[in-house]
Amino acid sequence: MKISQEDVLKALARIEDPVAGRDIVSLGYVSGLVVRDGHVGFALDLGDDPDAAAKEPLRARAESVVRSLPGVLSATVVLTAERPPEAAPEPQAAPPRHPPLAGIAEVRAIIAVASGKGGVGKSTVAANLAVALAEDGLSTGLLDADIYGPSVPRLMGLDREKPEVEGKRLLPLVAHGVATMSIGYLVPESKAMIWRGPMVASAVSQLLGDVAWGALDVLVVDMPPGTGDAQLTLAQRVPLTGAVVVSTPQDLALVDARKAIAMFGQVEVPILGIVENMSRFVCPHCGTASDIFGHGGARDTAAALDVPFLGEIPLEMRIRETSDGGAPIVVDAPGSAEAGAFRDLAAAVRARLLARGALAERSREDVSQPE
Ligand code: ADP
Repeated sequence: MKISQEDVLKALARIEDPVAGRDIVSLGYVSGLVVRDGHVGFALDLGDDPDAAAKEPLRARAESVVRSLPGVLSATVVLTAERPPEAAPEPQAAPPRHPPLAGIAEVRAIIAVASGKGGVGKSTVAANLAVALAEDGLSTGLLDADIYGPSVPRLMGLDREKPEVEGKRLLPLVAHGVATMSIGYLVPESKAMIWRGPMVASAVSQLLGDVAWGALDVLVVDMPPGTGDAQLTLAQRVPLTGAVVVSTPQDLALVDARKAIAMFGQVEVPILGIVENMSRFVCPHCGTASDIFGHGGARDTAAALDVPFLGEIPLEMRIRETSDGGAPIVVDAPGSAEAGAFRDLAAAVRARLLARGALAERSREDVSQPE
């Protein structure tokens, strides 16, 4: 049976907010309702209700009511409310930093790939890093938390796929040896929703908690670009082992990278290091290297801020072409210098994780077995 928006609204109209004494549809709480092939998502928008957090039982009830409707495969309901400016919570006053999330109970290390601004190649780096870690023998996942512009479906060649549901969990889609999940699998790109800070964090918490990630060594999280409220809340709510910050070499980009590093510092997430992307361009015809955006700026910034420098990824047309084609360059052209640069990055990240004790002996032994 096919479920429609009307069916969902009809069911929701039977749920009453006991405080207001009216149903949640006529109260105008239901916003951004998306129904796609049995997958339902919406927000309960509580406006400027100062007591919004107390409405969690209402959210849970709405989710279970929708989930139990015939034809519904999954339901994702997030609670959102405008934060009154005077009540802006300090990071330490916010909800518990690591709420228990069943889906990631067996994930050893969660790393954020972040950038101070968009367009620096953060998603490209996240995808190639995940694939290189998987090729290196680690069981790896890739969570697309860039819910303003999810690009993992395209980068991994999964833009026509939809995740299956098993029990109450969504199953990740696997490509190039990596388990992936993206809001892009559930919400059509044309229906881009307007996400507010707390809403982003709730949605991502659900992508972590309601997905059957299983036993992973590493989960790479492609963060939304920037250092605003949404990113800060996310950095605080996701149990991150550390962050990899991607920057291009220009001074202006590096100013943003510094902001990203400061943001993670604020919520005590260790910086695993900085990567310089779109570092020098090597002419495919004559082999001459040109520093289109400058070169070495990220290394200098890393040294100045006393954080590790993880390496340089060249500016290379093939990187863009392979990304558009749905096979990251590490898979598409494994013998290329660019693929080598991503493998070096993965090795550097892995070394940082080992140094922090974040990877278990098991995975270390497994990959050091002679072939
Ligand atoms: P972000 O996630 O930071 O917004 P993307 O990963 O989507 O950035 O990259 C932006 C664009 O730049 C994409 O078209 C991508 O293919 C391209 N790109 C990223 N890194 C490189 C690189 N090293 N060389 C060439 N093109 C790149």
